[in-house]
Amino acid sequence: MRTYEIFESWQGEGSMVGTRATFVRTPGCNKDCAFCDTNWKVRGNRLPDVWRPRREVEWVWLTGGEPLWQEGVKDFVDTLRAERWKVAVETNGTLPLPTHFDHVCVSPKGGWNELAITKADDLKVIVPSFRPSEYCGFDAKHKFVQPEWNRFRGIEEISTQVPRGWRLSMQNHKFWGVR
Ligand code: SF4
Repeated sequence: MRTYEIFESWQGEGSMVGTRATFVRTPGCNKDCAFCDTNWKVRGNRLPDVWRPRREVEWVWLTGGEPLWQEGVKDFVDTLRAERWKVAVETNGTLPLPTHFDHVCVSPKGGWNELAITKADDLKVIVPSFRPSEYCGFDAKHKFVQPEWNRFRGIEEISTQVPRGWRLSMQNHKFWGVR
C-alpha cells in the first residue's frame, strides 16, 4: 500500500472527536473536488510490510485521498486488526469496503447514486457543496453536517442546514492547532 503521510494526532471530527490516533494518509483519489484540502495527487511511497504504529495508540485512521482506492488496503487493515489495533477509515463512499473496519466514516463527494456504501458509523455531509437532505436515507449511527473550513462564516449560518436528528461537526483539530 502507498502512503504519503503518517502522523500521530487527535481526531477532530465526527463521533470520535478527541480520540488519539495514528493517521495514515494515502495518495490518489477517484474524485477531484474543487474544495479538496489534501495533497492527494502526489505519488507517495510504498509502506514497508514491517511498518507498525506505536502500540500505545489504539486507533489507526486511514484517510486520503481515497484510501479504498489503494491496492493492498485489505491486507494492511487485516494485519493491523489481527495484531489488535483498531482501524477506522474516512471514505467518500463510492467504493465498496474491502474488509471489516472498526469504524467507518462516509463523507460523500457526489450524489446519492454514486454511493457504494450506504451504511456506516458516521455520515458527514460537507456544506454548502452538498445537501444533507439528499442523504437522509443513509443508515448511520451518527449523522453530521460539517462546514467547509474556508467558507465557514459562523455557526448560525449552518443552523438552517442541519436536518432533525443530525449534529454539527467541525474540524476541531484546526482550532486546536494540530494536524
Ligand atoms: S474525495 Fe476527498 S480526497 Fe478526493 S478529491 Fe474529493 S475531497 Fe479530496
